[in-house]
Amino acid sequence: MDLILFGPPGAGKGTQAARLIDLLEIPQISTGDMMRAARKSGTELGKKFDSYMSDGKLVPDEMVIALMEERLTQPDAAKGAIFDGFPRTQNQAEALDVLLEKLGRKISKLVVLEVPVKNIVERVVGRRVDPASGQTYHIRYNPPPSGLEVIQRSDDTEDVVHQRYEGYKAKTEPALPYYEARGLVARVDGVGSLDEVFERIKNALGV
Ligand code: AMP
Repeated sequence: MDLILFGPPGAGKGTQAARLIDLLEIPQISTGDMMRAARKSGTELGKKFDSYMSDGKLVPDEMVIALMEERLTQPDAAKGAIFDGFPRTQNQAEALDVLLEKLGRKISKLVVLEVPVKNIVERVVGRRVDPASGQTYHIRYNPPPSGLEVIQRSDDTEDVVHQRYEGYKAKTEPALPYYEARGLVARVDGVGSLDEVFERIKNALGV
């Protein structure tokens, strides 16, 4: 199964993808995580990613698509994937179809996690990450265990989140009709407890 988790920054895509991995037995592919790993390793490519990411801008399509092409050839993704934070533009959506077609696959469903803009800033600014495991928490809604050293992503600040949200509205959301035309879109209310949202996603997927 190839599934897309779609929605604004802070909608819960990464958190819910992590839960779906066990259920569906396919990996989560997060372009944001992949680019953060490249950035951390300090490579030239990582530095390029950083110049966009730290301002909350989208990384150019060619770079993201090249990254995805490579990732999809890895054996763990042979049976499907949960795409988290990709595609983020119409170009990326079309490129993903081409990549999947070469593998004899296609998108089965796109789940949009709908969260009102008023909740986005609080969710993103309160997000914390365990750098060792990548597990995310929220200082209020899902606090990290006491004693665990968590960090804040450098782009999870109030200034940068506005830029990221505008990017979502201007470039990412307009890709939705591409999937709507094929009847692949399921809209899920992303406001609620992690368990509630997970149940809604499972219902939408029929799993
Ligand atoms: P995320 O972890 O999905 O919130 O992504 C963090 C940042 O990485 C975004 O604000 C972008 O700068 C960059 N990024 C992640 N995925 C993409 C993508 N598919 N296209 C362009 N930029 C991306």
